[in-house]
Amino acid sequence: MTQPSGERPTVKACHVCEGTRFYYLFSAADYRVVRCDDCGLIFLNPQPSDAELGRIYGANYFLGSETEAGRKLARDIKKATAKSYLTEIARYRGRAPGRLLEIGCGEGDFLELAEAARWKVTGIEYSEAACQQARRRLKSGQVVCGELQEANLSSAQFDLCVISDVLEHVRSPLNFLREIHRVLKPGGTLFVATPSTDSWSARLLKQKWMEFKAEHLTYFDQQTLQTALFKSGFREVIVEPGWKILSLEYVQKHFERFPVPMVTPFVNVVARLLPTGMRARHRRVVASGIMAFAQKTAINPQPTLSVIVPAYNEAKTFPAMMEALLRKEVPGLRMEIIVVESNSTDGTRDLVLEFKNNPRVKVILEERPRGKGHAVRTGLAAATGDYVLIQDADLEYDMEDYDALLEQLIGGRSAFVLGSRHGGRKVLKMRQFTGQTGLSLFVNVGHWFFTTLVNVLFLQRFRDPFTMYKVFRRDCLFGLEFECNRFDFDYELLIKLIRKGYRPMELPVNYRSRSYKEGKKVRLIRDPLSWLGTLVWLRCVKIDPMKVAERIHAERPPDA
Ligand SMILES: [Zn+2]
Repeated sequence: MTQPSGERPTVKACHVCEGTRFYYLFSAADYRVVRCDDCGLIFLNPQPSDAELGRIYGANYFLGSETEAGRKLARDIKKATAKSYLTEIARYRGRAPGRLLEIGCGEGDFLELAEAARWKVTGIEYSEAACQQARRRLKSGQVVCGELQEANLSSAQFDLCVISDVLEHVRSPLNFLREIHRVLKPGGTLFVATPSTDSWSARLLKQKWMEFKAEHLTYFDQQTLQTALFKSGFREVIVEPGWKILSLEYVQKHFERFPVPMVTPFVNVVARLLPTGMRARHRRVVASGIMAFAQKTAINPQPTLSVIVPAYNEAKTFPAMMEALLRKEVPGLRMEIIVVESNSTDGTRDLVLEFKNNPRVKVILEERPRGKGHAVRTGLAAATGDYVLIQDADLEYDMEDYDALLEQLIGGRSAFVLGSRHGGRKVLKMRQFTGQTGLSLFVNVGHWFFTTLVNVLFLQRFRDPFTMYKVFRRDCLFGLEFECNRFDFDYELLIKLIRKGYRPMELPVNYRSRSYKEGKKVRLIRDPLSWLGTLVWLRCVKIDPMKVAERIHAERPPDA
């Protein structure tokens, strides 16, 4: 056996977006914690050496405790958590059990339960001692000792892969996910549980967060995890707060073994105050992590951009806009144009129909105008691209501005980009309607008011959340349902994406506002009032992407 390397490997490009600008944050256990300036991923750089990791993963690391009583306690807790994971996975998949692979299966707590639930199980485990234990517990399941890349599994054989508390340990998370993609069957499910830097415990404890430790090499949050999954060929991603089943007794033992200043003494005091029965009771706790459910899709060699054009009474500008759009090329992207025409009264429909036979254009005709939001939603439902852009049929927005926005998406730096109309240089450029000073003032004050309201209600720092320049990955929409039909759809889209865990990025763009005389379709009093109502509603409305996924997956045919 070769001696493990004592060298600490340096990360040259961000694990998720491949950016190369990292900010040093602080040191944890003698390792530098850095943040990618482009996508926000946090990771150790350099990583611990093989020799250092080997010492950390000593025999006791996987056993959980030095004593038999401690191990039994840990096992009970793990079993209860595993049971709840299985239930949630079944809910997401909506189909019968098949072949399951768990990477990092430990002593087989999860596999044993899965076997009882009629899964045909395979485990991969790094620790020899844990492997032997797991083999004894399984009926027909197999356990491979070693790491995923060494296991030489054949392609497309598993229906489900489970990685619980594993992704943060691997040296190259994207390569790891791509290997999982390879061994899953088409449409196979991936379940990931990993610590998250946007969990409440991370926000509260900051540098003292218990998950910052030498063997945790990468720290995801909702957005970076979804981007990592997207880039490795997974779609239909649902992310939920990661809960674990814990008892106070277990938590107390954990913090005795891995003391954290302030937290350990606090837990001890609470434990002493409670009777034994309550200390041992199992509870579902939202802890420091996230859980993600995803589905394997075929990797598209040439990504597609879907451009959605809602067109209603735009006869004056529609032809020029289409001409510009068809001329437009975005390097590396195929373009699919979806025009949704809502039975205009000014002849726009005839102009739209001229593109009916253009192979790059999909024409959708609505029977009657039901609002711009409705038209955009119709377009979204017909879109098949990887990325989505919504293009008004007027010429208010400069198409050349889209390149910079799309670049952020394609690289994986963001999932959702807004083109801000107040880029430093053009602060005074917006909303100056010639000869309508009073109106300009009214609109600008309104803009400031609504921006502030959004920032306060949803804890954001937007400069221009109401821009029509929005590009986003289409997979972001999975699990969301929309109901707004008018201009309020813009709010609904933005806010629901934020509430699903995305952090939109703002970039400056060019902008020339239309005056009301030129046909801006906003109604000055009625619309702002309805926006106010919409924002309050969006703050309160329950969104439940898992429930939507459950319904969609239950409805699909068995071999889809
Ligand atoms: Zn990055």
